[in-house]
Amino acid sequence: MANSRPLTNVQQRDVNAILHPYTPLHKLQENGPLVMGHGKGVYLYDTQGKEYIEGMSGLWCAGLGFGDEEMIEAATEQMRTLPYYHLFGGKGMEPAIELAEKLKEIAPVPISKVFYTSSGSEANDTQVKLAWYYNNALGRPKKKKIISRVKAYHGVTIMAASLTGLPYNHMGWDLPVEGILHTDCPHYYRFGQEGESEAEFVARLATSLRDMIEREGPETIAAFIAEPVMGAGGVLVPPASYFSAIEPILREHDIMIIADEVINGFGRTGNWWGSQSVGMTPTTISAAKQLTAAYSPLGAVLVPEDIYQAYVDHSAQIGTFGHGFTYGGHPVGCALGVKAIEIYQRRNIVDYVRGLTPLFEARLAKVKDHPLVGEVRNCGLMGAVELVADKATKRPFNPAHAVGPALARFLEGHGAVLRAVGDSIAFCPPMIITEDELNELFNRFELALADTE
Ligand code: PLP
Repeated sequence: MANSRPLTNVQQRDVNAILHPYTPLHKLQENGPLVMGHGKGVYLYDTQGKEYIEGMSGLWCAGLGFGDEEMIEAATEQMRTLPYYHLFGGKGMEPAIELAEKLKEIAPVPISKVFYTSSGSEANDTQVKLAWYYNNALGRPKKKKIISRVKAYHGVTIMAASLTGLPYNHMGWDLPVEGILHTDCPHYYRFGQEGESEAEFVARLATSLRDMIEREGPETIAAFIAEPVMGAGGVLVPPASYFSAIEPILREHDIMIIADEVINGFGRTGNWWGSQSVGMTPTTISAAKQLTAAYSPLGAVLVPEDIYQAYVDHSAQIGTFGHGFTYGGHPVGCALGVKAIEIYQRRNIVDYVRGLTPLFEARLAKVKDHPLVGEVRNCGLMGAVELVADKATKRPFNPAHAVGPALARFLEGHGAVLRAVGDSIAFCPPMIITEDELNELFNRFELALADTE
């Protein structure tokens, strides 16, 4: 849907000055950017004062919505006390310690140490470096490949984008790098074969993973990485038996299991961690986004004691543990992480998400019969509506004529922000959204869907 109106002054300044991430750059001048001014609760207001309901928590991260006074106070207080310090060379800071203690307390598996990053990409990049370091420490220099999955999203640094299994992250970027393998995506609706039951689908994926490991040689494979519920690939919830089918194969071959909890963590799926919602038992964990409810950038890698001990031994041989980011463990980010977790606990956010989920599911189910809708799906308060060109055959739209981006722009017209991810429209509202606000979000979505017919 082209914007026929001339750009406002602020839109033109934006176009003149900003290289926008994940944006069709060739259409920016024509469509005009949506420049946000301020936000309160689950509502956002653009610079013209038009109101929007935020249906995506920004980028799956603003779980407490906007303008939370407790978060603002926590940041202000930490800015006054100590606005910056670092953890290099054995330095420490109270907020970084407190947050690490809290993460150890709530982690889904026993965790010994927390390594801080500034983002989810850096967390996953760090995971790969740590897997390499670990295997070097154990004297297994060949055990370095990482298995990811088709449709995975793990970020945009060279390694994180290589782990990602989406075409736009590879096309034009000379990626993936060597040593990254992609196994099947566990989305039954899209990848299940004609006449194949869900159980048969899972068995086929497990066999295919085993074949890949045996073909490559288990002695060359360090780790398997997975989002418990895939996000940017289209909110893809694996079959209930998926992780219990593949994990024994990975463990049998001494391949560590990395849970990318960057979107799933901190209540989003109706448990503290997505891995708990899908029966995944990780070795290590990446976290970010709702870790601070997006009031500050912060990421974390959580590792168990035995793996940490290998780093200690290797650091003793080499002379130091040579990895770290200037802003890893930033005190303001950590103070916000501590406060966010405290708020999630005090407000029983997990129970709150579980309580809202039936309404969320009912509103998703209401659009299921629409001719453009192939499948609706969710896990807790993350969900998607998959759009198809042909409902009976599940035929997807030709990417050149994808309807999702058009729908997303109709949504903007109706005052709702959702995101087109591939052929799906994703929903990931702030976890504090009320029933009335959630109904309003879906009412606006239905209006936009009717425009798209
Ligand atoms: N992992 C997952 C599952 C994500 O969804 C994202 C971002 O959306 C990332 C990693 C990358 O995080 P960041 O954008 O903070 O680098």
